[in-house]
Amino acid sequence: MSGPRPVVISGPSGAGKSTLLKKLLKDYKGVFGFSISHTTRDPRPGEVDGKDYHFTNREAMQEDIDKGEFIETDEFSGNLYGTSKSAVQDVRAKGLICILDVDIAGVRHIKETNLDPIYISIQPPSIEVLEERLRGRATETEEKIQSRLEEARTDMEECNEPGLFDIVIVNDDLDEAYEKLQSVLKEEITKVQEVIKS
Ligand code: 5GP
Repeated sequence: MSGPRPVVISGPSGAGKSTLLKKLLKDYKGVFGFSISHTTRDPRPGEVDGKDYHFTNREAMQEDIDKGEFIETDEFSGNLYGTSKSAVQDVRAKGLICILDVDIAGVRHIKETNLDPIYISIQPPSIEVLEERLRGRATETEEKIQSRLEEARTDMEECNEPGLFDIVIVNDDLDEAYEKLQSVLKEEITKVQEVIKS
């Protein structure tokens, strides 16, 4: 499919990806579109079905996976997550830059497809800060927090693997991280804005 290159954003849960993405989608209306993933986890307070995720159950999701409807799927902290083909197509059909928020296993799966996105990793300044943020959310059980911290340690180690990401942004200061994110995406943003103007 032609059009602007998609963008894959990855990084530990709690690193601030969603905050940065929400800001990007709000500041660049008509430029970016979010690929709405499926998940079997329960919604957090404030999350909306069909906007933040397609919340589903394992049986239904597995059926769709078996039908070949997903680009990639992964098991994360006891739940299934996945990007459906239509989630990406819906965004790209509108000529928007498609943003995918996936874990590091998802990044590796996408590398095997012909999607050719820009790969960005958002990292916390330290595991301690991440733990504070995860606890601050107060939405997870202690067991879930520990499991997410375990996933985060792996992610923080693997993100610097040569060739895996185009850029790793450390989210120490939100404004600075957002500046960096915008500058990496500037070329694609300009392309879409030029199409809008013409
Ligand atoms: P959360 O439960 O915090 O929303 O997400 C947990 C992890 O799942 C995050 O690292 C997030 O990037 C990842 N994730 C969300 N959607 C997908 C998806 O469609 N595929 C994959 N592989 N990971 C996803």
